[in-house]
Amino acid sequence: MALTAVKGCNDILPGESGRWQYIEQTARRVFELNGFGEIRVPIMEKTELFCRSIGDATDIVEKEMYSFIDKGENSVTLRPEGTAGVMRAFIERKLYAEDPIAKLYYMGPMFRYERPQKGRYRQFHQIGAEITGVNDPLADAQVLNMLTLFFREIGLTEPTLQINSLGCHECRPAYRSTLRGFLEERMDHLCDDCKRRFATNPLRTLDCKVPGCVEMTVGAPSVLDHLCSGCNDHFSRVRRYLDLSSTPYSINSRMVRGLDYYTRTTFEMVTGLLGSQSAVAAGGRYDGLISQLGGPNIPGIGFAMGLERIALLISNQEFASFPDLFIATMGSGERDVAFHLMDGLLKSGIRVEMDYEGKSLKSQMRRADKLKSRYSVVIGENEAATGRASFKRMSDGIQTDIPLTINAIQLLIGKSQQ
Ligand code: ATP
Ligand code: MG
Repeated sequence: MALTAVKGCNDILPGESGRWQYIEQTARRVFELNGFGEIRVPIMEKTELFCRSIGDATDIVEKEMYSFIDKGENSVTLRPEGTAGVMRAFIERKLYAEDPIAKLYYMGPMFRYERPQKGRYRQFHQIGAEITGVNDPLADAQVLNMLTLFFREIGLTEPTLQINSLGCHECRPAYRSTLRGFLEERMDHLCDDCKRRFATNPLRTLDCKVPGCVEMTVGAPSVLDHLCSGCNDHFSRVRRYLDLSSTPYSINSRMVRGLDYYTRTTFEMVTGLLGSQSAVAAGGRYDGLISQLGGPNIPGIGFAMGLERIALLISNQEFASFPDLFIATMGSGERDVAFHLMDGLLKSGIRVEMDYEGKSLKSQMRRADKLKSRYSVVIGENEAATGRASFKRMSDGIQTDIPLTINAIQLLIGKSQQ
């Protein structure tokens, strides 16, 4: 039987990886501009970390985790998201001892046992960023501005920013019971998931995509009407900072996030272009998470964005790159000259391809075309002897006779020493 990849896990092939590198490089540039440094944490963590942070009653922990018992009888889990591991490292490595304000970013694969479809996979990739140690809404606004700048730099006007506040441990319980009262009367019309979540996580019903649940929650009490004065003040200051920066956003009081640790500001970057996979990036404040994981009482805020979904949004952009020069040879005697020349040019930053197999000149030229090389040159006995050759610009066929030296070729091809 032929071996295939695990369901929902993708290969990113060379033609596609340029797009991924562009997304990753743009994120690094924008995040580092904002003072964030990269942290690399393991892909595997103890299962307990995710249960304690994401929450036992969430979709992720209930049904999506890749957990297994290793040979030492430990329960480990392939990370379903990045924040938990980053905060585990922040606490374990005492990053806060020197400065409670840490600005960290990460990128890499995440794993969730989901039903694979366009924009939803079992191994997928996130780029995320976190700021710890700042209570002030200034941090919320900087994170949101950074996210907005990232999407602008990547060349997208979609997706758009939606924000909400989920309150804190002071005001959310009261809202939760008000909402529960509202849902109780409509219980019969809710989907099975929402019925089940009614006791543990009723807020998720606001976010349920099942049409009946959407209909039943029209007119549900808004979390924004139930914020305590501290949360209310925080949310209005976040909005004021966004206004000050002319960052476009809308308020979506029905947005609830699928992870328990969020408090106050939550947000999503949403697009209408990917069907029900509408969230391209998402995040929020998590003021209780670090202490809940056994660390000091330090607040935090962050987000994660999905690379696959961003790659889909920029799939019309071209990222391929082509050789500068293809060196063809007439006979085997010139292959040493060609190889030596290629080596020198590669060391000078010129991208060169040559014939590897001693094929006919015709098939070598076909390959130069196929690779979309900008220039080609044929080295025969005469060229090898005189040290000069004719370089052909492939776009218009114009030939230029120059010496076979690195400098002359650099000058012609228009690339300076790198
Ligand atoms: P969704 O509502 O689409 O399931 P989510 O709320 O589970 O998203 P988060 O856990 O907040 O998503 O993750 C942040 C981002 O990671 C999402 O906005 C999305 O772009 C991406 N993402 C999440 N799950 C997947 C997946 N299974 N495949 C691809 N990308 C994903
Ligand atoms: Mg999900």
